[in-house]
Amino acid sequence: MRERLSFMQTSGWRDRGRSARNTTSRLPVMSGKRALTSSTDGEQQQPAQKKMRKVDIEPPQRFRSAASVVPPRRPVPVKAPAKPLRPTGAATVAVAPARGNQRKPVAAVPKAAAGSGMSRRPGWDLKGKVSDMETKVQNFQGKIKSANQENEYLKESITKAQKHKAEIEDENSGLKKRLRNCEEELVKLATVKDDLEQTSKERDGLKKDLNKLNEEHKVLEGLRDHLESELRNIQTQLAIQTSALNRCQDSLKESQELARNLEETAAHQKEELHLGEMERRKLHNTIQELKGNIRVFCRVRPLLNGNQSDILHIQLPAHDNKALTLAKMEESHTGRTADTQKSYNFSFDRVFGPRAAQREVFEEISLLVQSALDGYNVCCFAYGQTGSGKTFTMEGSDLEELWGVIPRAVQQIFKSAKALREQGWQYTFTASFVEIYNETLRDLLYTGKPNKRPEHEIRKISSNEITVTNLTYQKVNNEDEVHNLIMLANQNRSTARTGMNDHSSRSHSVFQLDIEGQNSDRDSKCKSTLCLVDLAGSERVQKSQSQGDRFKEMTAINSSLTNLGIVIAALANKDSFVPYRNSKLTYLLQNCLGGNSKTLMFVNISPEEESFSESLNSLRFASKVNDCVIGTASANRK
Ligand code: ADP
Ligand code: MG
Repeated sequence: MRERLSFMQTSGWRDRGRSARNTTSRLPVMSGKRALTSSTDGEQQQPAQKKMRKVDIEPPQRFRSAASVVPPRRPVPVKAPAKPLRPTGAATVAVAPARGNQRKPVAAVPKAAAGSGMSRRPGWDLKGKVSDMETKVQNFQGKIKSANQENEYLKESITKAQKHKAEIEDENSGLKKRLRNCEEELVKLATVKDDLEQTSKERDGLKKDLNKLNEEHKVLEGLRDHLESELRNIQTQLAIQTSALNRCQDSLKESQELARNLEETAAHQKEELHLGEMERRKLHNTIQELKGNIRVFCRVRPLLNGNQSDILHIQLPAHDNKALTLAKMEESHTGRTADTQKSYNFSFDRVFGPRAAQREVFEEISLLVQSALDGYNVCCFAYGQTGSGKTFTMEGSDLEELWGVIPRAVQQIFKSAKALREQGWQYTFTASFVEIYNETLRDLLYTGKPNKRPEHEIRKISSNEITVTNLTYQKVNNEDEVHNLIMLANQNRSTARTGMNDHSSRSHSVFQLDIEGQNSDRDSKCKSTLCLVDLAGSERVQKSQSQGDRFKEMTAINSSLTNLGIVIAALANKDSFVPYRNSKLTYLLQNCLGGNSKTLMFVNISPEEESFSESLNSLRFASKVNDCVIGTASANRK
């Protein structure tokens, strides 16, 4: 029973150890500790494994002690086995390292007993020997029984141990598995640790950033506060401005209302103005017609060096600025007398004396210039002998005060066009300047090489439109541009002048300004041409005095001037045929001479007495023209 208990105790210790292992950490270090704790149950303080080995050793000792339990049949041998029984507990530890060694002491027991407890029987003592043998058999039987019991027990123990081993192996594999898991976890934890380190580094970096951001945040907060205060200021100002704006809007509404009213009034007035303008044009034209569509002004040039009062043969009545008397003093023996005077009276639309200023002369024709803007063709000639003042009258000189008709007309036209722009009239101007010499046209605005001058032809492109081929038609926008063109024309004329042979006096120069007006508001247009012509000298040279080219020139001039007179007369007579084509001059000017135009002729007179006959011729020619009444003009309106 003791051995069993002791085994049970051992087994219990093992169970406890196992349960303790089950309940606490499975790590190997911890199991060592538990082995030590278990020693408190009274066992020796030894590692568990050693204890387990001891379990295997114990049964043979118990077997020996069991032998001692079986009482010997005889008192003497009974004592002998008692000796080895005594040291059971202690001897087991020292003696029994393996089962193989245990047999020896068991066999020794009966030997020792036989040797020490029983004396050798005499041979004859068979009975005693049998008794001894019986005792021995009994002993052996008891031992066999005990051994069988022990064997059973050991088998049971082995089964338990195997079961236990299987359990431990299970546990072991479980622990290995856990160990693997733990290692994996450890690896994972290492990764996690790395991550953690990385994260902590990042966290440090982020902390720094955060600090920085905090500082920036503080700065921004300061800025925000500042901006907020500014915003408040601005809002206050905005409120003030808004109220001001509201007031402004109110007044704007009032102003807009006023403006609408004014616009209506303006539109009304514009309409009235337009009607007024059309009425003015009509009345203006009526006046011009009453004055005559062809008018003749006479201008007497001053004596270039001398007193104007010395002009005796030209008499200008002080009270009448339309009359002129040319008086021829007949030389008598007693000198010049009034009796011998032969006078020729002339009457024109206006006579200008030698003291008449350029401005004064222009005033009279400015009305015609206005007609040109209103859409009537206007033609202005200067007729007279060379040196009588034609060029001076038409062009004048550079000083503004001495400007002639052309620059003044141009100035007026641009000025009036500007004023009419407010009434919706838009004008475009095209200038050309041509010279007719010996029935040949020459472009005075030509700027190319002299040897490449093109030839020109006059062409009629429609019933009321004439054009000259290869001629420069220059668009002009202001008077300066026109002045530049006049200067260019003068240069071109002077290049043709050779020596004393003044080419310009034997050629007609024609300045033409085409005017196109458009009033897009009223959808009305007007188109007209202002022609300002400086005619060739009208002097007649005796056939005997002129030869060659000079004769040819004179013939050309005479025929063109004569033809001009014929054309005007034919127009006045309303002849079915007007010989425009007879000269280049009339052909070029045909549109400006017809019933649709207004014509003004200056007859320029030289004051010198030796020019008397030429003056008389000029005045006679002019009178003929003056007598013509060209049919009523009508504006070129569309
Ligand atoms: P034309 O062109 O008829 O040949 P000009 O116009 O050249 O004559 O005149 C001849 C000269 O007389 C020029 O020197 C010019 O300046 C001068 N002259 C002409 N008319 C006047 C005038 N009304 N006042 C002052 N000088 C004049
Ligand atoms: Mg001239």
